[in-house]
Amino acid sequence: MKFPYFKKQLSLIPYGEKLSIGATPDFALEVTDPSGLVYEILCNCNGSNTIEDIYKKIKNKYKDLRIEEVTEIIDSLSSYPLILEDYAITVESSLTPREIERHSRTMNFLSNFDYLGTEKVNYMKKIINSNVLIVGLGGVGSSLAMNLAALGVQRLYGVDFDKVDLSNLNRQLLYSESDVGSLKSEAAKEKLDKFDSSIQFTTFQLEITCTEDVERLIKEFNIDFVFCAADQPSIWIYKWINEACHNTQTAWIYGGNSEASSYFQTIIPNETSCFNCRELNLKQFSAEGYFKYSEVKKHGYATQNNCLAATSSCITSFMIFDFIRHITKFESPRVVNQLFTLDYRDYTISYLPVEKNQMCNCQK
Ligand SMILES: [Zn+2]
Repeated sequence: MKFPYFKKQLSLIPYGEKLSIGATPDFALEVTDPSGLVYEILCNCNGSNTIEDIYKKIKNKYKDLRIEEVTEIIDSLSSYPLILEDYAITVESSLTPREIERHSRTMNFLSNFDYLGTEKVNYMKKIINSNVLIVGLGGVGSSLAMNLAALGVQRLYGVDFDKVDLSNLNRQLLYSESDVGSLKSEAAKEKLDKFDSSIQFTTFQLEITCTEDVERLIKEFNIDFVFCAADQPSIWIYKWINEACHNTQTAWIYGGNSEASSYFQTIIPNETSCFNCRELNLKQFSAEGYFKYSEVKKHGYATQNNCLAATSSCITSFMIFDFIRHITKFESPRVVNQLFTLDYRDYTISYLPVEKNQMCNCQK
């Protein structure tokens, strides 16, 4: 390791003759450090000191210290993942100085999943370079747009046909009182442009009415990932996006709020079950359930929703983590082949299996 760098997000807690590296109970590494030598070494692992520099800085404090001991301690700490990384490798990237500063805390977070300590910049670049489409800029869509912008996605696309209403302010965090009566597509763009001028947020005043509407956007803007945050028309909006994403092999997530719970499912074409599998499973295995579902397709769900900014934010957070997993590839998305639900009455999280249906187009 040429320029050892101690991850700044980890706490370094000397107590008695011990040193705790990290503060999370099942993660922290506890070492015996009666002289405080390990602590001193880690404090000097700043990414610009070489091992020799570190040795020179602390040798006066530890009279009999040899450089081999410093090397040995750094080598043994390097064998624990997630503590040290080699800064010479991680800064070697095409990120601009502004990007390094703007995304430094996101990269700290990503480095929690980066066992080699060399991948966080690559993860960040994948996030920055992704083209993400959000269908529906209401409660969930607002939270998604703000979260994705904060996360660092540089090219965001948003679709909504509606105008801002006073009753939207309880959950749609993109809008303010002064936006009431304005188009959501315009007010949302204004908000995100002010938030970070480096983000290209392109919005469309458009009502999605068929598969082709979505497919056209995916193709025209080279979309890598779609979030469906719209719930109207009930079920159909998911079916259209499902088909468009199947045709273009685009990963997507649908999610929203229903009565006292929130839900979502992540769909990766060619790998997981899809929304249509869910419908076919119901048709095949539950005649009554399918009958009820068919009625919803005709008449829709409730006419007025009951969600909060808080419920939209909760489900959005989980959706974003599955997006990060898929885009960076540090791990596979978690909520595949199942529907995640979070119940606010007792905070129960449930997973309803959505198995692949062999009759579905996605399996052919
Ligand atoms: Zn399917």
